[in-house]
Order: sequence, then structure tokens, then C-alpha cells
Amino acid sequence: MSWSLSLGSIVGVRIRIHLTFLIFLAWIGLAFWHSGGGEAAARGIAYILLLFGCVVLHEFGHILTAKRFGAKTVDVILLPIGGLARMQGIPEKPREELLVALAGPFTNLIIASVLIAFIGPHALSFGLGRSLADLSILPSLAVANLFLALFNLVPAFPMDGGRVLRALLTYSVGRDMATTMAARIGHYLAVGLGVFGFLGGLPLLMLVAVFIYFGASAEYNHAQMRSFARGLVVSDVMMDQFSVLPVTKAIGDAVAVLVHSAQHDIPLVDGVGKPVAILTRNEIVQALHQHGQYFPVAEAARTGMTTVLANAALEEALQLMEEGAPAVAVVDVHGRLKGMLTLESLGQWMMLRRMNPEAA
Ligand SMILES: [Zn+2]
Repeated sequence: MSWSLSLGSIVGVRIRIHLTFLIFLAWIGLAFWHSGGGEAAARGIAYILLLFGCVVLHEFGHILTAKRFGAKTVDVILLPIGGLARMQGIPEKPREELLVALAGPFTNLIIASVLIAFIGPHALSFGLGRSLADLSILPSLAVANLFLALFNLVPAFPMDGGRVLRALLTYSVGRDMATTMAARIGHYLAVGLGVFGFLGGLPLLMLVAVFIYFGASAEYNHAQMRSFARGLVVSDVMMDQFSVLPVTKAIGDAVAVLVHSAQHDIPLVDGVGKPVAILTRNEIVQALHQHGQYFPVAEAARTGMTTVLANAALEEALQLMEEGAPAVAVVDVHGRLKGMLTLESLGQWMMLRRMNPEAA
């Protein structure tokens, strides 16, 4: 994800911090400073950093459990709304999915228990309903962890509880139906929270509602794409009419392709037709602006090409795109470019497939 800084790695998982999170920290600092001066600001920022430390531990609950079932995690990104772990090969067996989903909230429960054992249960009340100026860190952290555990266990997508629900429902109605049901509950919940937030004048709750709504939709689309892809090979859905450029050409030639077609990304091929890189519209515009039309396309293209065989399972290509490839080059057994798959072309194919499963 762009706009993020890397903080280093833990057990091979890169921890990234999104720039909006830094803005959020500054905003928290200012709010606390307003209500209690510099000391309160330092306390507020320390509290948020510790809280997000707990969010990272929550994510590692998922990550380490998923690792036992063979999933690999690329990175964890810290956003103001929480942590986001990007995993490859997330287990789909209901029992494994159940354990991976539960491990996150379970981690928060453990943290809360340790904190409560340390500060004593009676101190928990200090963590509730205090003004910003006299926030006490450890009790507030214990309450926040209890809240994180409970909120994440709400049985709706995109919360962990939605995954728990899907895993349990999969046994009786199958995975596709289970996904639809968990996503639908997520939509109802989001609309309910949104209305409640609007009537109660709580903008933050409305924001959470929007996040839940789109999260539930994304889960649903993802599951539907997977179910459509089952049994298909890449060449069934790839684009096979598009322009390519020899890697020896200049930016002026790429501009001509942009002007005369609706294509955004242009694959660059070598002398025998093998894809070497992908040139995006942004790269073309930038290179034209900075270096002019005679600049070689080979130097302007910064993205290597992810390739997949034309007869590979479509699910394999989807996996590559989930790992962050914006476009995948489809090649024959000799490595020559035969087609392209982009998120855009897949989205369109899915829309057509929804309208008429026979035609697309
Ligand atoms: Zn979680």
C-alpha cells in the first residue's frame, strides 16, 4: 500500500504505518493538549501508541495461528481504523478459519486479563467515562481491549465474528451461502449503526457504519469472485485484444497508444514476444513531463510483470492479484504474451456473469 512507512519486521512480517495514522496521532495530541496541556498530550499519544500495540498483537494472533495452517503474511498496515494484515493462502477449511478468526479477539482478552490482574478489578472504573485531561492509561487500555474483543466478535462481516459465523454456517449451508449470510448481517448492522449514529448525532459511529458496510461488500464480492472462478482457467476470461509495445520504443509511442485506445496499462515485450514490464498511464505521463517523448519506455516502466500460464486455474491468477499485482500477463508455454488480466477486466466479467451466468 502506498502512503505508508515501514517500521521493520517481526517474524518475517513487515509492519507498516499509514500516513493517515500519523495525522490521526497528531490530531489526538492536539485534542489532549487543548484539554490539559503538554503533559496530557504526551499521555494521550502514549495511550494511542499502546492501544495500537494491542491492535498489532491482535493481528499477530491471527497471523501466527494462520501460519500453523500454512498461510503466509506479507505485511500489517496500521490505519486509524485498526490493523490490516495481508495474508496469502488464508485457510478456507471451516475449523481452521474458525481458529484463525478467534485468535485475534482472544489475544485482546488475554491482554485485558493481564492488565486487570495487574491494576486490580476495582481500578477498571478509572478507564470509563473520564475526561481527556485525566485519562489513566492502564485502566483505559484494559477497557479498550475488552471492547476490541467484543466488537470484533460481532457476528457480521468484516469483523472477525463474521468469519466465525461463516465457518460455523459452512457446515450446514455451504461456504457460498454462509458468506452471503454473514455479509448480509454486516449490511443490516451497518445501516442500523448508521441510522443510530445519525439520530444520536455521533459522527464517529456513522464512520464506523460506512466502514462496516464497505467491508461486508468487499468480503461478499471476494467470495463471489472465488466461487465464479472455480473450475475456470485463465484463458476463459483473459483480455486478448490490446496493444503492446516493444521494450525498445520511446514514450512518444506509448502516448500514441494512450490516445488511440482506452487502455491504461501497456505491456512491454522483448524481441520474441515475452512480457518484461508493464507501463502504467501515470508512468507515461510522468516520463513525458520530465524527460520528453524520446525517453525510452524501458526506463519509464518501474513495475515488473507477474505472469501466469493461459491454462492455469483462474483461482491462481486471483491469488496473484490479491497479493498486489495490478495486472497479470497471461503467457503460453514458451513464455510469450497471449493475454492480460486486470482488476478492471475481472470486475467487468463478474458483473456480466452475475447478469447472465451462461453468457459470460
Ligand atoms: Zn481480527
